[in-house]
Amino acid sequence: AKNSGRNDFEFFSHDMREDANARMQLLKELRSAIELEQFELYYQPIVSLDDLHVHKAEGLIRWQHPEKGLISPADFIPLAEETRQINALGQFVFTEALQTLNDIKKHIQDEFQISINVSPVQLATTDSGIDDWYGMLETANLPASSIVAEITEGLMVNPEELTQSRLKALVKSGMQLALDDFGTGYSSLAYLQEMDTDYLKIDKRFVDNIQKDSQELALCEAIIMMAHQLGLKVIAEGIETKLQMDLLLEAGCDYGQGYLFSKPLHKTSFMQLITTNQVI
Ligand code: C2E
Ligand code: CA
Ligand code: CA
Ligand code: CA
Repeated sequence: AKNSGRNDFEFFSHDMREDANARMQLLKELRSAIELEQFELYYQPIVSLDDLHVHKAEGLIRWQHPEKGLISPADFIPLAEETRQINALGQFVFTEALQTLNDIKKHIQDEFQISINVSPVQLATTDSGIDDWYGMLETANLPASSIVAEITEGLMVNPEELTQSRLKALVKSGMQLALDDFGTGYSSLAYLQEMDTDYLKIDKRFVDNIQKDSQELALCEAIIMMAHQLGLKVIAEGIETKLQMDLLLEAGCDYGQGYLFSKPLHKTSFMQLITTNQVI
């Protein structure tokens, strides 16, 4: 860029300055947002495809900004990871999930699971608070199996020692593991088995393009078959149409998540939904 003429250079440097400013601003606000309790955990139901009952939900964080409104996690999670503020957010998410599980217990007898997204940064940071989760579960009087930790494929490839021992401890405690966004990375199925993963989540991008006789459907069928062979249950993400649902059900998929059933809901609406336990 240095050789590309004065105007170009100024254009880029101006842009970069804007970027850096925006980042600094967001960073500052992120820090106070935790103290100001601007974060909320939303819940997206996960349904069994054969009877459409809600046995699980994924917790998804939202930032309720006083001026900017609801900010999507895609816009602040990467920044929170870079600055390790994700650790504080992660503790917030875990605490909320426990509270909600206890609220659900008052309404339904069946075992309910909440899955939470666990960042690689949390797993790799010594003081991320993850090691307190076991005590927190005990205090909340909840079985460890009511929490599912969603991790991404990248983690499985070459995990650091701390990450690896933490994942082992999670599994040993009875907490469950889900491999998120399956198909977008490059982990091998052997890792799935080795890490004692319970769920595999098929990424939305496969589900998007599912049609009768499509390559994506063939791929989903193969993934589901292999996952079942390894003793894993399969959750398909981003189901938006009845056709996608039908084809996935036919392919043997166990659970579904997506706008067809429900968008991520504020806790109040979510509690209303699960007490009636009906989605579509
Ligand atoms: P993800 O874990 O893959 O979560 C699924 C995303 O797909 C969510 O976006 C959800 O709202 C969206 N989604 C679900 N069904 C549909 C559908 O039918 N159609 C469409 N178009 N979208 C659907 P969201 O909530 O914006 O979250 C984005 C990402 O941010 C998540 O992707 C996850 O990687 C990250 N994230 C969210 N909450 C947390 C958190 O508490 N901690 C961490 N570390 N990451 C989080
Ligand atoms: Ca997820
Ligand atoms: Ca397990
Ligand atoms: Ca996902």
